[in-house]
Amino acid sequence: MALSQRIRKLKPYVAGEQPQDRVYLKLNTNENPYPPSAKVQDALRTFDSERLRLYPDPLCRGLRRRLAEKYGLSPEEVFVSNGSDEVLSFCFYAFFDSTEGKLLFPEVTYSFYPVYCDYYGIAFETVPLSPSLSLDLRGFLGKNPSCGIIFANPNTPTGTCLPLGEVTRLLQNYPPSKAVVIDEAYIDFGGESALPLLSDFSNLLIVRTFSKSMSLAGLRLGFAMGRKELIQALFAAKDAFNSYPVNTLTQLIGEMALSDEPYYNAITGKIIATRERFSKALLGLGWHVLPSKANFVFASKKGIPGKKVYSKLKEAGILVRHFDKERTRDFIRITIGKDEDMDRLIDSLANLFS
Ligand code: PMP
Repeated sequence: MALSQRIRKLKPYVAGEQPQDRVYLKLNTNENPYPPSAKVQDALRTFDSERLRLYPDPLCRGLRRRLAEKYGLSPEEVFVSNGSDEVLSFCFYAFFDSTEGKLLFPEVTYSFYPVYCDYYGIAFETVPLSPSLSLDLRGFLGKNPSCGIIFANPNTPTGTCLPLGEVTRLLQNYPPSKAVVIDEAYIDFGGESALPLLSDFSNLLIVRTFSKSMSLAGLRLGFAMGRKELIQALFAAKDAFNSYPVNTLTQLIGEMALSDEPYYNAITGKIIATRERFSKALLGLGWHVLPSKANFVFASKKGIPGKKVYSKLKEAGILVRHFDKERTRDFIRITIGKDEDMDRLIDSLANLFS
């Protein structure tokens, strides 16, 4: 078969399952349980299909202007693309070059990072988490020379979040000539963003998504914020790959979503309240629950392998995620749904494992 050596060796990312055999309560891919803003629905209802005759704006100017206004930046400091996965992919291509040393990221984190390294031929080294499974940024500083750093804050699948002070210390002690990419996919659920650091650190790039707090995972829209030079590099990577990764409808809907901050603040508040209530209930059942600042929790119960919990819950019609690696094997990651979803899960766990 006419397959390249590259594709023969490639190990693709495996996304959370979407089985079609029955209706599941889906708590496995950190989707938002609430619908997008009514303004999004209105925009879809009144959209004139004539607009699809023409190519979209390759610079996504309207959307970038809105994002810049929201975060107190200039549009030249904002990049958007087809989901934050694609933004991340362009970051790996644009900033990390292992002729200058290895890329560093935590040993337990978003499992797409090693896949991008494989895809672009970037050598990497992982940095251990602390015994309590939180990120330990000191580990990044002892590993020079490196070609850059990427980490998710809050991290996944653990859900723990580092305070701004620790992130600041890392940036103060890391060479300004190497990029530090912080993946803030889950930051809106109570974490401290590194956004205030953008003015001080020219090597910092923050990546975000509309998939989680904006309830638009199906739309595929992600963005990055950083200095103009970094954003220009992302545009160069994009324009060498696809001129139009963000279609006309997505650009419009993204803008509409950004115009309804009160709605999104309300649903984010509800998810946070449900997470706290659910975490307490799990603790009450004797589970170990990591402190989460995300729309999911990472939990384990002594003596019961995570895989067994995952399988029993699947039989009961509830999907959660299990990561079969050394430090995560005992745990399951549970997306926070509505209160009634979490009550159902608590009942199932009480019945299955008490
Ligand atoms: N970063 C992290 C840490 C994630 O968990 C996810 C979701 N799988 C993404 C990025 C990608 O999100 P999306 O492509 O939907 O924007």
